[in-house]
Amino acid sequence: MPDFRVNMHNSRLGIYIQVPFCQTKCTYCNFHTGVVSAGRFSPYVEAVCREIRGFRELNAAAGVKLPEGFEKATVDTVYIGGGTPSLLEPGLLRRMVDAIQETFATELNEVTIEADPETVEAGKAEAWVAAAINRVSFGVQSFSDKELAAAGRMHRRRDVYRAVPILRAAGIRNISFDLIAGLPFQTRESWKDSLEQLRELEPEHVSVYLLEVDEGSRLGKEILNGGVRYSAGAVPSDDEMADFYEAACEFLGAAGYHHYEISNWGKPGLESRHNLKYWRREPYLGFGAGAHSFSGTERWANAHDAAEYGRAIMGGRLPIEQLEVVTPAAALEEELFLGLRQLDGIDVGRIEREYGVALGGRFEPLESAGLIERSGELVRLSPARLSVSNEVFVGLMR
Ligand code: SF4
Repeated sequence: MPDFRVNMHNSRLGIYIQVPFCQTKCTYCNFHTGVVSAGRFSPYVEAVCREIRGFRELNAAAGVKLPEGFEKATVDTVYIGGGTPSLLEPGLLRRMVDAIQETFATELNEVTIEADPETVEAGKAEAWVAAAINRVSFGVQSFSDKELAAAGRMHRRRDVYRAVPILRAAGIRNISFDLIAGLPFQTRESWKDSLEQLRELEPEHVSVYLLEVDEGSRLGKEILNGGVRYSAGAVPSDDEMADFYEAACEFLGAAGYHHYEISNWGKPGLESRHNLKYWRREPYLGFGAGAHSFSGTERWANAHDAAEYGRAIMGGRLPIEQLEVVTPAAALEEELFLGLRQLDGIDVGRIEREYGVALGGRFEPLESAGLIERSGELVRLSPARLSVSNEVFVGLMR
């Protein structure tokens, strides 16, 4: 029986670096990020570089059992996310990329930085390219200044129009835009207008997220508990959000983007190679506060608190908050859950053979509800029902 838990995929490894700092806190944000003085950036980067260089010893001492393949794996994708990593001086970003290149075998074909449009300057963009960064993921969210202001974003529509030519001139050929459906004051017209701007700016990749409502953000709390400070009353209904999502599917499909994951579209060949690793259960190492890692057999995460993380690393200890062995049952659930997020669907025959299970009955209720469709051994979400995908996942996990 093959090792059902590991998918080293030609021994390729992804690396994620978390930069948990922002200029302000957006009202809808439920991430563990902080607004800190710039003096904290350099010591944090120092800690991340130490974690990268000492990853074998640090992980071993923390109880993580890295499979043998890790020693020989080649790092081909790096994703510097946050937070707002574009706030950092390019020299600090370069130190982290250099630490990766000094520690691992690398063939870096996709190195992404998340950036806020107002932080982009020509000198920075050129330094990013010199540091091997070749993809920029922009937190655009909307092209409506009213929506951006209500969400607590620092940039405005004109900043995106200013930043994109700067990146192009610096040689960045792969730009991704994040858009959020469900921001306060969003209407069918304003959403359509945000989509229309993609024709003008031509990003190679687009991610569309639905506003998440939970206690973790100020806006989410207000939606759940009442209040007027963050414009919770102006948040579109669930039905409107589903309409916005469907309008995005239609628009992006017609504009030549390949819809390859529920929230993601790329021009052919420009799908996010790094993010595909998450959905394909390929291994990745996360460095920095709150960063998650997956070895194929274990999942673990670093402490979220940046100060606690920094203290521990500088003291020679990896501050792991969660470490779990992926059991065969959990691996199977992940195959289904992550596999169905991809529009190509899942190969039921392969999974049944690898895991020694029969999945037939598991899909029947979803199939009769029209939520998924089958073609031979392939099962995938019905394209017309993508906006209800949560329902599908809940059904599958039962
Ligand atoms: S920029 Fe991103 S990470 Fe920072 S507060 Fe806003 S949504 Fe959160």
